[in-house]
Order: sequence, then C-alpha cells, then structure tokens
Amino acid sequence: MKKHIVIIGSGPAGLSSALYSIRGGHTVSLLTGNNFGGQLSSITDLGNYPGVENVSSGVELAKIMRKQSEDLGTKFITDSMTKIEQLDGVFKVFLADDSFLKCDSVILAMGVLPRKLGLADEENLTGRGISYCSVCDGFFYQKKPVAVIGGGNSAISDALYLSRQCSQVYIVIRKSHWAKNVEQILIDKVDNTKNIKVLFETSPHNFLKDENGIVGLSIKDNRNNSIEDLQVDGIFVAIGHIPNTENVKKFIDCDEDGFIKTVIGSTQTDKNGIFCAGDIRSKTYAQVIIACGLGAQSAIECDEFLQTL
Ligand SMILES: Cc1cc2nc3c(=O)[nH]c(=O)nc-3n(C[C@H](O)[C@H](O)[C@H](O)COP(=O)(O)OP(=O)(O)OC[C@H]3O[C@@H](n4cnc5c(N)ncnc54)[C@H](O)[C@@H]3O)c2cc1C
Repeated sequence: MKKHIVIIGSGPAGLSSALYSIRGGHTVSLLTGNNFGGQLSSITDLGNYPGVENVSSGVELAKIMRKQSEDLGTKFITDSMTKIEQLDGVFKVFLADDSFLKCDSVILAMGVLPRKLGLADEENLTGRGISYCSVCDGFFYQKKPVAVIGGGNSAISDALYLSRQCSQVYIVIRKSHWAKNVEQILIDKVDNTKNIKVLFETSPHNFLKDENGIVGLSIKDNRNNSIEDLQVDGIFVAIGHIPNTENVKKFIDCDEDGFIKTVIGSTQTDKNGIFCAGDIRSKTYAQVIIACGLGAQSAIECDEFLQTL
C-alpha cells in the first residue's frame, strides 16, 4: 500500500529525496520553505557538479530537479514547517497557519545559513569576491591573494585548501589563539605552509571594492585599533553555519551546534521514521553533490522503513 512521505526543504537534498521517494511508489509532499532551491539559489557558477556543463546556475539546476519529481506526482507546497508531532505512529507536520499534514514518514532537509560578518555591502559583494565556501569558489582565485576569516576548524581547513592554489592566504583571527577544538596537527601544518600568514587579534573592518567587486580587506588590530589594508581578490568567511533546526531541536536529537545527529553511516535520526539529509546533518561536507547523495540515501532508508509498517 502507498505510504505518504513529507519532505521538508527544497534544496538539493530535499529535491533528490523527493525524486527517489516518488519513484519508490509513495505519495510525496515537499515543503519548499521560503527559499525555493535553498543555497542553490545563491550559486551563480556551479562548476563542481558533474554532468551539468550547460546548466549555468544553481537556480536552473533546482528548477530541473523540481520538474523531474513534480512530473511524477510530487506535490510542492510553498510553506514552512513550524513543528512536528508524532502520535500512534503517525506524524503531523505543522504549517505556518497551524494546519498540518499527516504522513507515515518525514525527511528533514532544511539546510543551513552561512553565518555572516555583518559588515556593510556583504550581501551585494557575495559572489563578487566574498565567498562562504572555499571548495566551491577557491578555483576562481588561482595564483591570487585571498583572506580567510575565522579561527576554528573551518577557517584552518579552508586556509590549507586555498594555500594549494592561491598565491597568498591571510587568516584573520579575532583572538590571540585558535579555537579550542582545533587540532594541533592542523596548526602545525599552517605554521609550516609558506604562503599562509596568520594575523592574530585582528578583525575585518570593511571591504575594499571597485565596480567589479572585492579588491581588498581593511582589518583592525584589536590591540591598538590601528587599521591596515590587505590587497586580496577574495575573502572567505569561515565563521560557521546556522542550521535551520530551531523548530525541531526539542523533538530530534541534535549536536551542540544544532545539527541533526544520525546513526553512523545512515540518515536515520533518533526518531524511528524520521530521516535527515544534506547540510543539516551533523558532520556532513556541505556540497551540492553530497546533499543529493544523502537525499537519495534518506529516501531509500525511508522506503525500507515504510516496508516494515
Ligand atoms: C554562495 C554559495 C555558493 C555555493 N557554491 C557551491 C558550489 O559551487 N558547489 C557546491 O557543491 N556547493 C556549493 N555551495 C553549498 C551548497 O549549496 C550546499 O551544500 C547545498 O545547497 C546544501 O543543500 P541542502 O538541501 O542540504 O540545504 P539548502 O540548500 O540549505 O536548502 C534548505 C532548504 O530548506 C528550506 N527550509 C528551511 N527551513 C524550513 C522549514 N522550517 N520548512 C520548510 N522548508 C525549510 C529552505 O527554504 C531551503 O529550500 C554553496 C553555498 C553557498 C551559500
């Protein structure tokens, strides 16, 4: 018998899980949230997703993914989940107006928002020199100087990654030391990498720009408030991501940063019948291809669960 699955989120994870779920013979409703396509909608040049050479942007890819599963019967609902309840094996997914969808299983794919610096012009310089993803955009700064902002594991791994292709990498760190959870082996690597310069106790002050985008970063020395300009073509902000788990945090087990925990190697959450895919999942690489892979996995695991009912 057909079972009903509700998928929450219309980024690549949600769209892929919808395609697999509808092809698995279930009825599927997908809540898009207020940003159809998720972070895909911010990608202007998607160069690392195999097989889509003629697809110019993330938005275009999201539209194709939607059509694939909508043509097969997935119901797209432009609304957001506000909470989830479970009663007698049935899930209720609540919408903004307090109505709810009943279903046999739920796939959570609400993604993340990159944490912003909050400086003037940050929004309109994003994609024109400001990036939140070194693996996605490092390629565009080959043999050019860049700055990485942050003092945690993301910043350090971004800097190491960028040092392999950029001429110079500055790391701008607010404090006088790395974050506590940064491994010493990574710090040693940074110290031994000739084209990385660590600027402790400095903060981004403002962006230097021309009509094409970023041409530098002005930084403040936190010890004496003096200002210095770094000539860089790219600025990589690595101060973390905010997972969209506010509405489910009390119901689903999350890690200390709010990302959803799953059984190792699986998309199964601590609630039987609820799966999760994409960037929202704890300890996941934030890439479109990985979100799609996890979307597919969550749908397959969800189908296996539904067969047991
Ligand atoms: C500027 C930028 C450039 C990038 N470039 C690349 C690149 O070149 N290559 C690459 O591989 N990756 C890139 N990434 C990363 C990639 O986009 C993400 O890893 C990927 O989109 C994650 O997919 P997701 O489906 O898990 O989540 P998201 O894309 O974040 O989608 C989450 C979805 O959930 C919805 N949602 C949130 N809360 C609710 C709710 N309560 N109810 C209903 N829906 C909800 C949102 O509206 C959204 O549709 C980039 C990211 C950014 C920001």
